[in-house]
Amino acid sequence: MFLSREARAATDQVLAWMREAGMDAKLDAIGNAAARYEGERPGLPCLMLGSHLDTVRDAGKYDGMLGVISAIECVHALHSRKKRLPFAIEVIGFGDEEGVRFGTTLLGSRAIAGIFDRKALDAADATGKKMAAALAEFGLPPERIPEIARKKGAVLAYAELHIEQGPVLEAEGLPVGVVTAINGFSRLRVTLRGAAGHAGTVPMKLRRDALAGAADCVLAVEKTARGLPELVGTVGRIEAKPGAINVIPGEVVFSVDVRAPHDGLRNQTVAAIRSQIEKIAAARTLGCEIETLQEFGVTACAPRLMQQMERAVERQGYRVRRLPSGAGHDGMALAAITEICMLFVRCKGGISHSPLESITAEDAAAGAKVLCDFIEHFELSA
Ligand SMILES: [Zn+2]
Repeated sequence: MFLSREARAATDQVLAWMREAGMDAKLDAIGNAAARYEGERPGLPCLMLGSHLDTVRDAGKYDGMLGVISAIECVHALHSRKKRLPFAIEVIGFGDEEGVRFGTTLLGSRAIAGIFDRKALDAADATGKKMAAALAEFGLPPERIPEIARKKGAVLAYAELHIEQGPVLEAEGLPVGVVTAINGFSRLRVTLRGAAGHAGTVPMKLRRDALAGAADCVLAVEKTARGLPELVGTVGRIEAKPGAINVIPGEVVFSVDVRAPHDGLRNQTVAAIRSQIEKIAAARTLGCEIETLQEFGVTACAPRLMQQMERAVERQGYRVRRLPSGAGHDGMALAAITEICMLFVRCKGGISHSPLESITAEDAAAGAKVLCDFIEHFELSA
């Protein structure tokens, strides 16, 4: 978890591996492990590589980390041959991508991209500790965060290797795939207010049961999302108050997460879900409040970078498969300052965010070889 004792130990280990691979490495102001391998001469613009070092609770060990150590391994391969390229390479192990601790995602990559929102410093974790205080405890003064923002032109491109977190590559028998775009997402928090009452004495027709209303809403989200092939909609969290076996639920709060490869489709769907929830609430005389927690548009991978990645895939002897990413990634933030691309590595059963997350050593090697090939053949501009 971001800025935890365990995160510090992991980050220190990654910094040590970065130095072993021939890079200058340091902990930056937002808690990223940040390393640089100079090009043919010092100070050249860089090709940025990386992924995230944080995880969710009960996670697997490849989501994020695989992209960081693969990138380090590629630099190590160059360094051991004393090879310098016409550009620098930076490898970043982002301190926060998942947003588990403070409820707001992509903190590490947003800081690098210069789009870190200072309001996030006031966000508190489950114990009530604010991010500013957690950073200070980590030895990181929050006022230094703007200093790590890269200037436009300093980053030629951002390339990330990541496990697929889906079943497509496994189904097609391929070790790697080239990502076309990262789907956009919308997250809502819905509060329904009815009337709590005794589960034994209030007749059914006089009830204003907020949880029964929420159940209708959950099904409405599912039905709407099912009708659209490229779209997914999920209610992943629900809380009923007061939460007793013999009390009619008076208030329910639930989340809605909608993702799609087209922003227009996602916005239309979110509007449709909102109006259905409002209708359901009105029909049941429930109070209804819908807040937008977070929204992110589709991030397209740059065609010229995808083509370069595809040539690397072919040179390494694999068939090219393009696929979109349903999960969010650090590239969404980096796209604010540079073009991005991604390489997916097959994972077992498409499972991630679970201790069952698994990849083979052969696939890890295939991914690293393609990434190394991409780096060595990287073309600075179109
Ligand atoms: Zn990840």
